Amino acid sequence: MNKQELKDRVRTAIRKQANEITALAEAIAREPELGFKEHKTAAKIQSFFQQRNIPFTTEHAITGVKGTLKGRSSRRNIAVLGEMDAVTCFDHPLANTETGAAHACGHHAQIAAMMGCGAGLAASGVMDELDGDVTLFAVPAEEYVEIEYRNRLRQEGKIRYLGGKAELIRCGAFDGIDMAMMVHLSTDGDKNRVMGIGGTSNGFVGKMIHYTGREAHAAGAPDKGINALNAAMIGLMAVNAMRETFRDEDYVRFHPIITKGGDLVNVIPAEVRLESYVRGKTVESILDANFKVNRALRGGAAAIGAEVEISDLPGYLPLVNNDRMTELFRRNAVTLLGENSTKPLGHNPGSTDMGDLSHIMPIIHPWVGGVTGVAHTRDFRVCDPEMAYIINAQCMAMTVIDLLADQAAEADELLENYQPKMTKKQYLAFMESIK
Ligand SMILES: [Zn+2]
Ligand SMILES: [Zn+2]
Repeated sequence: MNKQELKDRVRTAIRKQANEITALAEAIAREPELGFKEHKTAAKIQSFFQQRNIPFTTEHAITGVKGTLKGRSSRRNIAVLGEMDAVTCFDHPLANTETGAAHACGHHAQIAAMMGCGAGLAASGVMDELDGDVTLFAVPAEEYVEIEYRNRLRQEGKIRYLGGKAELIRCGAFDGIDMAMMVHLSTDGDKNRVMGIGGTSNGFVGKMIHYTGREAHAAGAPDKGINALNAAMIGLMAVNAMRETFRDEDYVRFHPIITKGGDLVNVIPAEVRLESYVRGKTVESILDANFKVNRALRGGAAAIGAEVEISDLPGYLPLVNNDRMTELFRRNAVTLLGENSTKPLGHNPGSTDMGDLSHIMPIIHPWVGGVTGVAHTRDFRVCDPEMAYIINAQCMAMTVIDLLADQAAEADELLENYQPKMTKKQYLAFMESIK
């Protein structure tokens, strides 16, 4: 069977399962969970695998679920990824009322697209004609959040890195995988059947900032206290005074939150905690900006006579899409949606742990339509389920066929011409150097 026939078969097979795929997405959206806590989400994914007799393993980086579709031979191994975690957005209509978790980043749609892709490849019999395996990988904790909580997991030895893919790389869950793909929902005005392809995004260092002063009666004896909140505010203002030294082309971002601002209103704050990232377009710009940020934060403590402890944590690396895979994906998008359905992307100042994977293997991370509203807000919702769940699944399955049909000639050629930015060993050494 030629590639076109294989693609037609897989498209039909995905279409036939559209109701189940959509139901999975909606079920996940109704029970959102934050990263490294996606137990109910994992259970739903496992039962979807079970219903289709797709073998899987569990508990990768705590909650990850990894299914395998065997090809005619195992010449290559392509991972199709979907992220499991939600963000906190209490005002989202489908938010968990206790935790505030909500799929305001659309990761539930990624799981649907990944599972739809796998279900179609499995049901169509196409795998018997492909020279490679497909790993269907539901991965945890893409959002780098709840830094204190995750740092505790780190201290307890449950994880080493705070992002899901970084941790999975470290655990060896990506060993033996040659390349990876996923899609991420994105709003693009009213052009919801558009796929943004290629492009780059920022990486970052994570940080916890802990100012300590001395408590005292806020009105009766402020002279006996050391105000940690004032120290923190001066530290943040000092960073703001450094911003003009950040070059536009480096896309530096520093966006702290105060997670503890004091204890009681009538007590001078003795302990103030902040979390932030320092983001940038390149590793060099991240490290340069991070140095300046840390110096400024220490300045706040020095001014007030407080103490500051800054814990830098390994974050994410900048994202690089593989050109050849991008072109294969683009052609399939054009087949499904027409000539003007793709647009090349520039640089995105956001970050994803797909950036980490992109340093050690070829990947694509297209930003796809099907959604409306601003990401991470109450307005963000899937408005075009067909696009968000089904067409994205078809486009990835067709790209898998491009890579693995004809004795995996396309995958072979791509890998022969590919030089990773880092080996896994170099990657882990870099991560360990952030402290
Ligand atoms: Zn997000
Ligand atoms: Zn996201």
